[in-house]
Amino acid sequence: MHIGFLGLGNMGGPMALNLLKAGHSLTVFDLSPTSMARLVEAGATAAASPTAIAQSDAELIITMLPAAAHVKSVYLGDDGLLPHVRPGVLLIDCSTIDPMSAREVAKAAAERGSSMLDAPVSGGTGGAAAGTLTFMVGGAAADFDRAQPLLAAMGKNIVHCGSSGNGQVAKVANNMLLGISMIGVAEAMALGVSLGMDAKVLAGIINTSSGRCWSSDTYNPFPGVLDSTPAARGYSGGFGSDLMLKDLGLATEAAKQARQPVILGSVAQQLYQGFSLQGHGGLDFSAIIKLYCQEA
Ligand code: NAD
Repeated sequence: MHIGFLGLGNMGGPMALNLLKAGHSLTVFDLSPTSMARLVEAGATAAASPTAIAQSDAELIITMLPAAAHVKSVYLGDDGLLPHVRPGVLLIDCSTIDPMSAREVAKAAAERGSSMLDAPVSGGTGGAAAGTLTFMVGGAAADFDRAQPLLAAMGKNIVHCGSSGNGQVAKVANNMLLGISMIGVAEAMALGVSLGMDAKVLAGIINTSSGRCWSSDTYNPFPGVLDSTPAARGYSGGFGSDLMLKDLGLATEAAKQARQPVILGSVAQQLYQGFSLQGHGGLDFSAIIKLYCQEA
């Protein structure tokens, strides 16, 4: 299939490479010439603008952009996709943005006779490279069925979450819980160690008791508990604190619009905001334990 792909960064780059590996032909666009060159070297065709992709004979167009402002400009701008896209082309935005913006862009697409899915991912850059991402997809069931085999070239779990915007809803709800649970595990681990407990023994107790969660048993933030986590390598790599801050901001903003309280989500957002201000935004999000103890 001929696919258009815009946004070839840390996530979009390896996702596009996996589509090429699966035998699809790609026309790509990114503001960064270096990112474009990497894909062209692997066999993709370079486009000069989003308009050029819209005017190509791509049957499906995927975007993987930093935030809602970029998504709106790429879809709604005068030289963007929607004013020029051919009818029947399926549009899939994999960026993480707020559900309201996703619905706004999908509505604009529908008004121009195009179908659109929001399909944010989890799994990070490792999952993007390995083709094992989880896709949380919002939009019409028929469009989901059409996209499914293609998304399967980039991911392992592809879940239809309901109507337009619901992929983003699933993503922000999950990541808000992840931020909260990481802070909870950091707090509990720091308390236990400060009261004289060995960190590994404490983690073992938590992980076989009712406090167990992914942040405690797979991604424990206390150094020395697990060998292959960011905590074991000075909190480098992994999922950046600033990316967690972005997702918590999306959750609290969406909650405000829905008039839904997210008390712990707001506290988590403020803690990551302060952490970023202290210059730690580039560290993995489990480094939030630095707020609690000096060992980290
Ligand atoms: P990134 O900054 O590495 O890549 C974004 C790319 O978009 C860049 O190459 C940039 O040049 C390009 N771009 C920006 N504006 C553009 C425009 N107008 N036209 C064309 N290209 C444009 O970001 P990333 O890490 O790849 O993340 C992309 C999305 O995926 C974000 O929404 C992020 O929240 C989400 N996400 C990231 C991760 C992760 O671990 N990095 C995990 C899950 C989800």
